[in-house]
Amino acid sequence: MKLEKNHERCIGAGQCVLTEPKIFDQDERGLVRVLIERPQGADRDAAHKAVYICPAKALSLTEE
Ligand code: SF4
Repeated sequence: MKLEKNHERCIGAGQCVLTEPKIFDQDERGLVRVLIERPQGADRDAAHKAVYICPAKALSLTEE
């Protein structure tokens, strides 16, 4: 699975970073930066949680 971001949708709310700082960061504009593109195990569960809580629906997990 691959964790994808959509900068067109991201509003820089930072919920993903606050919830999972190991997996997400924000760039100088506040837009999401994905630190682990192919999360495994517990990181994968955390990525699912972040996808769910993002208020802008700017994150997704896709099958490759
Ligand atoms: S991806 Fe979602 S939760 Fe993360 S900074 Fe962007 S809008 Fe906020």
